[in-house]
Amino acid sequence: MLASHSIGERLIQFNGVAKVYNAADGKAVRAVDSVTAEIDRGEFIAILGPSGCGKSTLMMMLAGLLRPSEGSILFKDKLITGPQEDFGIVFQDAVLFPWRNVRENVELPGEVEGLSRNDRRTRAQKMIDLVGLSGFENKFPNELSGGMQQRVAIARALSLNPSLLLMDEPFGALDAMTREQMNLELQRISLESGATVVFVTHSIAEAAFLADRVFVMSGRPSTVREIVPIDIPRPRDIDLMASDKFGTYVAHLRDLLEVRGDAS
Ligand code: ADP
Repeated sequence: MLASHSIGERLIQFNGVAKVYNAADGKAVRAVDSVTAEIDRGEFIAILGPSGCGKSTLMMMLAGLLRPSEGSILFKDKLITGPQEDFGIVFQDAVLFPWRNVRENVELPGEVEGLSRNDRRTRAQKMIDLVGLSGFENKFPNELSGGMQQRVAIARALSLNPSLLLMDEPFGALDAMTREQMNLELQRISLESGATVVFVTHSIAEAAFLADRVFVMSGRPSTVREIVPIDIPRPRDIDLMASDKFGTYVAHLRDLLEVRGDAS
């Protein structure tokens, strides 16, 4: 579908993006279809849809890790043709190096970029403080809880000050209470860092709580069925979830997901 949006400075543009996979049985699977949308600098976008609807596929194309079969994705008006240095990525599993402590994990992108030791240290410490892990710099991943490991992954993804933070179900493996806590933390981190965030989730409440706009995906072949602006100022408090206004958004998002019986 076509969604026009023209507030602020455009950062990303999807133009008729589709992805067709060749499945093992030789059949073509159209996982994503006709996605046309724009994302502005500084926005927090949630991509919401049921499992298997193509959210990760869309994210991988945006990350430059998969090529669209049709259409194009532009970042700062340039075609994305491969992985971008300017992107930070966080997956469901923190994917930390077990033999490196927190500081060394967060410093890794700086090492790859060839930054000086001092510069790496300073940036890493700033991000460790930002994600609330000060005092844990010398701990190893196996000494941390799942929520803390994800904080390390977020700090690492932000360490080179990316223009875009891509998050694919980052809190999917956490228990409900830790997840709620991480949603609050992520909101704070995104507001403080000013990063543009694209956040994939199948949780309606998580999408409504975090996002400026929610891209609601339909079932396969998946497209953006509707873009729902969440007109609630940030920072948002967890008590908001009990409000009528929040309930109305959640009900609307659920209705959209249930149109074809593909609710999550
Ligand atoms: P989501 O992230 O919403 O759970 P995915 O993007 O992972 O969905 O998958 C979308 C659809 O594409 C699914 O039906 C999945 O089986 C299919 N798919 C994903 N990756 C491949 C692949 N490499 N080859 C064939 N089909 C795939």
